[in-house]
Amino acid sequence: MKIGVLGGGQLARMIALAGTPLGCSFVVLDPSETACATSVARQVKGNYDDPQALAELARQVDVVTYEFENVPEASARLLAQTVPVYPAADVLHVAQDRLNEKTLFTKLGIETPPYAPVNSLAELEQAVASIGLPAVLKTRTQGYDGKGQAVIKSEDQLADAWRAIGEVPAILEGFVQFEREVSMVAVRNKAGEVRYYPLSENHHEGGILRVARARPGDATAALAQRYTEKLLSHFNYVGVIAVEFFQQGEHLLANEFAPRVHNSGHWTIEGAECSQFENHVRAVADLPLGSTQALGAAAMVNIIGDLPNPAEVLALDYCHAHFYGKSARPGRKVAHIGVRAPDESTREAAIEQALQLPGAKF
Ligand code: AMP
Repeated sequence: MKIGVLGGGQLARMIALAGTPLGCSFVVLDPSETACATSVARQVKGNYDDPQALAELARQVDVVTYEFENVPEASARLLAQTVPVYPAADVLHVAQDRLNEKTLFTKLGIETPPYAPVNSLAELEQAVASIGLPAVLKTRTQGYDGKGQAVIKSEDQLADAWRAIGEVPAILEGFVQFEREVSMVAVRNKAGEVRYYPLSENHHEGGILRVARARPGDATAALAQRYTEKLLSHFNYVGVIAVEFFQQGEHLLANEFAPRVHNSGHWTIEGAECSQFENHVRAVADLPLGSTQALGAAAMVNIIGDLPNPAEVLALDYCHAHFYGKSARPGRKVAHIGVRAPDESTREAAIEQALQLPGAKF
């Protein structure tokens, strides 16, 4: 089976690394000269909205998926005329726009932080009057890893926040005093079979994920699964999904979902029987799904903006190196460390060591 991936970054690379031993081969569409997935996949070089590049990709593959949700929806629809695209373009329409996303959560009975659409400074003032402060102003589209966001703590910051996000259509959210952030990574196949990974507990700094820990047996997983299932069946979804939540007591407030493999699921490479990457390939290639059962006590530490020496990583017990083949630059995710230890205290010791590596400190 030949699989096309829109985007040739590290997620596409890890999808290809997982799928190649299953007998699949991979072609990525990416405009970049240095797309890091090309060490394990062929490339069609072109923009995501280039009809010729899209037609060339469709010609070379049996099925198309994507590694990021900001692919133009029209491109996914164009491709779908000639080749199956999973997840479907309807999913992109929602996942690309924070207002569409929050509106769907509400419609499906999935709790969210309080939110309101904002299209002008006057609407921002009205939204603050109803939601209160502190609050977060986020662009509706194109935001990721904390980009396109401004935290507002007092009324005199409204005009600056509106300017800071570029005066574009936005959403105001109440700032949630959460106990922790968690995500549910799950996979669904064409027949509607769903498998859930253990809950992931995620630690962000400055809006960017730094450490994720697998929490098998977590009491909150049942609610996270129920919410995730609502999204999966709504879309008749095929592939891996990740849904991010803020936890407050027994409540989970949905922040966003990613219609793809997700950074908070990287620990599944060593920490689950079948990784999120392999299960994504299995789902889109219509192969039997693999077990999502946890192996040991697993975690993931992101390496951002600086590169350790591979030997420094490999010298650490229970730590596994995943270099993406990217050069280091400030704020760029260039590698991660997968941790799988026999028990939680050994895992915490391994995380502590990994956090001393260049690029891991925060
Ligand atoms: P996002 O780009 O929406 O995933 O936001 C990135 C990170 O910013 C989240 O993982 C949280 O740590 C923080 N954040 C985003 N929205 C809120 C919110 N409404 N309340 C509190 N923290 C938030």
